[in-house]
Amino acid sequence: MTLPDIIRLFPTDASCRELLERLRWPKGVRCIRCGGSVSPLGSRLYQCSACPKQYQFAVTTGTIFADTHLDLEKWFLAVLLLCEARKGMSAQQLQRTLGVAYKTAWYLCHRIRAAMATAERPALTGVVEMDETYVGGREKSDKRGRPVNSKKEIVIGIRQGGGDLRFFKAEDVKSGTIEKYVKDNISTEVEVIMTDDSAIYPKAINAHPLMGDYRGKHKTINHSSGQYVDGLIHTNTVENSFSLLKRGIIGSWHKVSAKHLMRYLAEMEFRFNRRHRSDLFVDTLRHMVTANPLSFAQLVK
Ligand SMILES: [Zn+2]
Repeated sequence: MTLPDIIRLFPTDASCRELLERLRWPKGVRCIRCGGSVSPLGSRLYQCSACPKQYQFAVTTGTIFADTHLDLEKWFLAVLLLCEARKGMSAQQLQRTLGVAYKTAWYLCHRIRAAMATAERPALTGVVEMDETYVGGREKSDKRGRPVNSKKEIVIGIRQGGGDLRFFKAEDVKSGTIEKYVKDNISTEVEVIMTDDSAIYPKAINAHPLMGDYRGKHKTINHSSGQYVDGLIHTNTVENSFSLLKRGIIGSWHKVSAKHLMRYLAEMEFRFNRRHRSDLFVDTLRHMVTANPLSFAQLVK
C-alpha cells in the first residue's frame, strides 16, 4: 500500500467504512450486543430489533475510532504513515504531514499505537536470543542549570532467529524479573536460548542440564572478553533490533518518558514482526476495529 493507493481506494467516508466493516465482521454485520442479525439504518448505522430499544450502532462503535470527529480518510492516511515509518513517527511529524492540529496528531498516534499493542504474542521457539539494553534518561537540570542524571529505562529484547521480536520495559534486571519474561515468551520446545555471560541469565533461564523447563538449552557468549560470535552462538540479531530501536528513539522521539516507552516498544515490535508482510496497513486497521475496547481503555489510562 502506498499513499496514492490509499487516496485512490479510500477517497470517501463510505469507502473507508466498507473496509472496516469487512475487517470487523468478515461473515457479515452482526449486532455488537447480542450477535443477532441487523438491518441498515441510513448510510452509517445498523439497528438490532432483538435488543431493547432497537439498539443502534456503527462500525466504529466500541472501537478505537469511537468518539472521533476526524474523517476516516484522515485516519487511514495516519495509519499508513505510522505503518511505513520504520523508526516511528512523532506527533509533530504527523501534524505537519497531515495538516491537522497537534492535539489531533497526538491522539491519532496514541490510538493507533494502542491498537498495535493489542497484537497477539505467540511463544517464541527455535533459536532464541535475549539481551537487555538501556534507553532514554531525560536530560534534566537543577535550579542552577547543572545536568542531573536521570534514570535510564531497561529494555529487554527477545528475538527468534528469522522470526518475531519482543520488547519489554523491565523494572529491574533481577533474575526473578527476567525469569518471568523468559517463561511468558519462550516456548519450552525452544532449541536454544542465547544470551551474553551476564550473571542474571543462568538463574533466570533455569537451564540446569538435569532439571527445569529449559534444561541444557541455555548458551552464552562471552562479551566481557571481547568474544562476540562463537559459531552459531551470538546475540547479534537482537542487538540489531536494539540499534533500530535506539535510532528510532533518537531520530523521531527525542524524549521518551517511561510512560510512553511501553507503547513505543509495542509499535516498533508490531511493525518489525510484520516487516515481510504486504498487508501491514490492513492488519493494523483490523486491530483497530477488533481490539477489545476495555483493554484499550486500560492502555490509554
Ligand atoms: Zn442485538
